[in-house]
Amino acid sequence: MWVFLIALADLDVKVEPGADEMMDGGFRGQIHLVPQLPTGKYKQHLTWATQAFADIDAFFTGLDLPDPAPYRWRSITLQFVRSVGKHTPSAYASKWTITYNVEGSLMTSAAGVRETLFHELFHLNDEEHGDWSGKTLAADYDAIVKKCGTKPSCLAPYAPNDTKVRATGTYYAFQPNNGSSVHEYAAELAVRYWKEQTEIAKSGKLSHKAFKCGPAENARAWQALVGEFFAGRDGVPAC
Ligand SMILES: [Zn+2]
Repeated sequence: MWVFLIALADLDVKVEPGADEMMDGGFRGQIHLVPQLPTGKYKQHLTWATQAFADIDAFFTGLDLPDPAPYRWRSITLQFVRSVGKHTPSAYASKWTITYNVEGSLMTSAAGVRETLFHELFHLNDEEHGDWSGKTLAADYDAIVKKCGTKPSCLAPYAPNDTKVRATGTYYAFQPNNGSSVHEYAAELAVRYWKEQTEIAKSGKLSHKAFKCGPAENARAWQALVGEFFAGRDGVPAC
């Protein structure tokens, strides 16, 4: 099989083709995925992925987590596929492997790839921590969904990130028929953590209201996330 290490060999990120499969994509329907290496017309994806892992590594190095780290971002396998006739899912992840769709609708810029890979890395760590989000966040998450359904104006204060499903306009974190969607809420929460820490480090303040300073559910989720995965590191000032 055609396998190589991403240019950042010290990150131990292995690149290989994914499987040919029919995937049940939930709200997305059935999706045919085929192996597709990031070469030829798709070689930009390897550049973006390499840059994303470098940026993510720099972020976690800067966090200075204790040893052993409660979070893993190195020694990951990256499998590349192409969706036939569709542009979803952009990626998915399990068992220290991220599958990257070169036709994914979020995979069209360096920033989009980096955010998506950060999201997927969280899924891997969530899984490693024994389905942490399913156990820890589900009660608050279910209560929010019960109250708001998919109504954007009701969900807005609770949505950790701005990613929405194109077809429905629903926040990705609250999209129904998307597996166990509390996992998506948690991964979007991790992205929000990364965005806020990065902004604070860069400019000393946030351009938006801090997530933890929103409704009480947000504060609880934030505190739990930061404690479980990021050793309590939080540069965002208290509310
Ligand atoms: Zn996800």
